[in-house]
Amino acid sequence: MSLPEPLSDPIVGIDLGTTNSLVAICDGAGPRVLCNEVGERMIPSAVRYSQGVAVAVGSAARRAAAEYACDTVMSAKRLMGRSFEEARARAGAGGDVSQLCASARGLAALRVGGAEVLPQEVAAVILRELRRIAELQLGVTVHRAVITVPAYFDDGQRQATRDAARIAGLDAVRIVNEPTAAALAYGIGSRGRAETIAVYDFGGGTFDVSILQVIPDDGSGDGDLFRVLATAGDTHLGGDDLDDELAQYFARTVGAAPSRALRDLAESTKIALSLHAHVDVEIDGVLGKPLQKRVTRLEFEAMIRPWVHKTIDACARVVRDAGSVSIDRVVMVGGSTRIPLVRQLVGEFFDREPYTALDPDLVVALGAAVQASVLRGDRRDVLLLDVIPLSLGIETVGGAVAKLLTRNAMIPARATELFSTSVDNQTSVRLQVLQGEREMACDCRSLATFELRGLPAMPAGIPQVEVVFLVDANGVLHVTAVERRSGCRASVQVVPAYGLTTDEIERIERESLVHARADMHQHRVVDLAVNSALDIKWIDEALRKTRSELTGQYVASLEGLLTQLRSFVEQARANARDVDANAFFAAKDALDRASVHLHELSIARSLREIPLAHMKGPHE
Ligand code: AMP
Repeated sequence: MSLPEPLSDPIVGIDLGTTNSLVAICDGAGPRVLCNEVGERMIPSAVRYSQGVAVAVGSAARRAAAEYACDTVMSAKRLMGRSFEEARARAGAGGDVSQLCASARGLAALRVGGAEVLPQEVAAVILRELRRIAELQLGVTVHRAVITVPAYFDDGQRQATRDAARIAGLDAVRIVNEPTAAALAYGIGSRGRAETIAVYDFGGGTFDVSILQVIPDDGSGDGDLFRVLATAGDTHLGGDDLDDELAQYFARTVGAAPSRALRDLAESTKIALSLHAHVDVEIDGVLGKPLQKRVTRLEFEAMIRPWVHKTIDACARVVRDAGSVSIDRVVMVGGSTRIPLVRQLVGEFFDREPYTALDPDLVVALGAAVQASVLRGDRRDVLLLDVIPLSLGIETVGGAVAKLLTRNAMIPARATELFSTSVDNQTSVRLQVLQGEREMACDCRSLATFELRGLPAMPAGIPQVEVVFLVDANGVLHVTAVERRSGCRASVQVVPAYGLTTDEIERIERESLVHARADMHQHRVVDLAVNSALDIKWIDEALRKTRSELTGQYVASLEGLLTQLRSFVEQARANARDVDANAFFAAKDALDRASVHLHELSIARSLREIPLAHMKGPHE
């Protein structure tokens, strides 16, 4: 994808986080997070000092944090704009206050690397690093930014954030609430509708939930207004607590004391359990002998349920505080919202499937960039489209595309189609969600893949997998697959418009016209091959069972036709483009017609095989 022209005098969007910070830009290709020279997008909010001078920032500072514990500041955001007394009281009994000190004016400050620094000075070092990354990637000077802060930040904390920007040489043209930014990233508020949104933000060390009211632009052209109706949370509740829970379980299992290594193992196990039903881990035992242990998602869920319930209690509080409003949409932010149990309980509480299409670690920065481009007056991204810019579908057997929603369909849009399996006893189905106008999956853009697992073993063609595509009013695509007989279900969300420029949409359209004839041919051949393979398998089996009842001449003619069709299937698998589709169709048709007698015989035979006791008569 070619990147658009660099913006002159850009405004970047910055998510200045407690643990990680990110910088993003919104240009002709929509919003995207920028990465540093080693490909990192999430820059650890860590700074190391030596004699009052910042000597390392980001990963370099975090990596060596244990070695330079006294010289490294890890979560300066918690202290921003607070008085010393307030910061000490908030840290509570268990909080780390080893670096905390009072500045000459009684503000919370940090004693690190032999000197005293204010939290906004630490934040300025991080902001300067983000500015450097943006300038490196954009090739222009950056001196304006939209910076996000938690909804609960008071005036003092917001002012401290502005001060930090000024020290870093950045003009904070707008301070935006993090939940508002997350909503903006999803295009919420861009369609002039009044809505109430819940933003659930569960990160590594903090949790908060906010209720926002979107008040559409009153015609003044200032844009929609986002009002925070209520916010609640816990600044000391996060993924770290879940890691501790699992680390303690590991420690109990091997009879050791909890350690850094066990916490690291716990975090990687937790992350793996978001994807897998169980994980096999190897825990270093006390006797130097590693212990093999299987942890299931169900066990992990039982351990973390009380923590997740705490967050749900906060959701209940915040809805009450907001006046028991009804919630139109739920937006998920923060790495811990990747945990299936979290998604499930949040969805159940709000009675809405929460938005998870965007990376929950990037969504705030992306929204800050969207706000920045609105302020620059150059928002030309495709989030505002009211139609589906390119067709959406899924890959079917053989690599063809089944289009469920065609381009230019008005949104919201919904489509359903039934699919089945192509192999006997298939217990999982992999679904690839595609976007584009071409007929083959390899020529389309892959938006997501997901798996429908746990199907009961059934012969090919028997499972009924219902796939539903729903593009909602904000352009978010929800894909759900349900196997009707067993009720197995899986789903995924994506934002199809992300990263697409208008030029790119036009190019894809042009290409589809150029390739239309060849693509249709290939699609037809692939479909013929899939259906023929099923026919061949069925006829082979029926022949085996009924051969003794058939004449030698009939069997020989069927076998001749089978050989001919098999050869077409093989050719199609090797190179579908060069197969004569009409000849292929004629061969399949000939076998279909010739096998009618075999069908009839097989049906009669299977009726004979049904035990009489199971047959119901007409009068029963
Ligand atoms: P954040 O503060 O938003 O960057 O979130 C970081 C937290 O998310 C950490 O506790 C991570 O362990 C957690 N996290 C990241 N990815 C996953 C995942 N796939 N499943 C569960 N937790 C995750």
